Amino acid sequence: MILYNTLGQKKQEFKTHTEGTVNMYTCGPTVYHFAHIGNLRTYIMEDVLEKYLRYEGYKVNRVMNITDVGHLASDADTGEDKMLKGAKREHKTVLEIADFYTKAFFEDCKKLNIKTPDVVEPATCCIPEFIEMVETLLKKGYAYEAGGNVYFDTSKLDKYYVFGNQSEEDLAVGVRDSVTEDEFKKNKTDFVLWFTKSKFDDQELKWESPWGLGYPGWHIECSAISIKHGGEYLDLHCGGVDNAFPHHTNEIAQSEAYLGHEWCPHWFHVLHLLDSTGKMSKSKGEFLTVSLLESKGYDPLVYRMFCLQSHYRKPLTFTFESLDNAAVAYNKLVNRIANLKAEGEIETEKAEKYKAKFKEAMGNDLNTSLGLTCLYDVLKAGVNDATKLHLIEDFDTVLSIGLIDAAKKVRAAKSENISTDFTAEIEALIEKRQKARAEKDWATADKIRDELAAKKVIIKDTPQGVTWEIAE
Ligand code: AMP
Ligand code: ZN
Repeated sequence: MILYNTLGQKKQEFKTHTEGTVNMYTCGPTVYHFAHIGNLRTYIMEDVLEKYLRYEGYKVNRVMNITDVGHLASDADTGEDKMLKGAKREHKTVLEIADFYTKAFFEDCKKLNIKTPDVVEPATCCIPEFIEMVETLLKKGYAYEAGGNVYFDTSKLDKYYVFGNQSEEDLAVGVRDSVTEDEFKKNKTDFVLWFTKSKFDDQELKWESPWGLGYPGWHIECSAISIKHGGEYLDLHCGGVDNAFPHHTNEIAQSEAYLGHEWCPHWFHVLHLLDSTGKMSKSKGEFLTVSLLESKGYDPLVYRMFCLQSHYRKPLTFTFESLDNAAVAYNKLVNRIANLKAEGEIETEKAEKYKAKFKEAMGNDLNTSLGLTCLYDVLKAGVNDATKLHLIEDFDTVLSIGLIDAAKKVRAAKSENISTDFTAEIEALIEKRQKARAEKDWATADKIRDELAAKKVIIKDTPQGVTWEIAE
């Protein structure tokens, strides 16, 4: 597969440390509020990537954290803990908030056909691992204690800014525009590994540590959880583009300092979902959720289709008008599939050609809009319906827009519109025909078949018995 790598900023062949196996890590949600549909754009595209890697034959071990402690309202290690903010807002404990919004996140994922990663680990379950990592970083001289906190010393690295080609000075200023500098830091870019002293002393969750009662910084959790479940060599790390700096930059700094070797060679970042005012974000107050889309009558899978229509490396602007367009396209697609009949043998050789085209599209930096085009090509293809259905089902193991199920529902809804009287009449005729056939009365059997055809009923003799349907 060819996949863009933010590290090096170019498309390149995706390679793994062990042939056929992908160790994949995904930054999970901060569970202080519902996920907005922007967050979910990132998880949808990561899900497609994971499923496509499996489609190509890789065995994937995907790990994801749940940030239930340590993510500060400002990425520059200052500000209030996001979890605590959520707890105060709802007059609940931090753990109640975490539990509620973790469940809500996975419910949204289920509605969007996002597979749950193989390992999901809340940060609060890994405190001993964080402490061990911070201790090692101190021992190796990559960290220092100051003002009651432990900081990572970025001056010990040959290169700190690993993504992008902005000058180090630009980035430092950009990120810290409105932030008061922490007086205990030796360098602007140093970040907290472990807090015991923060401006916000009412932090609810604290743990004993060699540096006193405290709590971990945000970045340490992803390094430690990834190493715990994915080992020392990661193949692929994913997240939204805002994670690249400072979060992923800091993850790389501390993981490589801790391990003493390169950690993850390939970084996948999804560009943002925007609304009319810019980047969609939870802190803006009002934001769009899956439940809100549902309450307006949208199938969550229409939103998934909307995301697939664009490339993950382009910002995507959300409007209800464009979601309506996606809904129209989705319903048309489903209706066309509902009209296919599972007849005939699958034409394997021809099917392979269409699968190769799908791989060409998806294997070229996850071109999901071309992947969708492959579905339309199949519908137009000169192959029988059984082959079309087989290919659609095959591609949908990756795209996951629920096409086969949705088509079944359309068919069921159509047949529900047929009155019970009519059904009884047809079934009586079919029974009469069966009787005639059993008695080798072919003339009567044929007459009944014609009678059924006049009523636009098509009958099929299958090993399981006679089935019937209304002609389109
Ligand atoms: P959070 O819950 O804030 O930790 O974010 C969860 C994921 O959503 C991270 O990978 C973020 O980078 C990503 N994310 C945040 N905002 C957006 C957005 N507007 N569009 C796409 N992804 C986003
Ligand atoms: Zn992370």
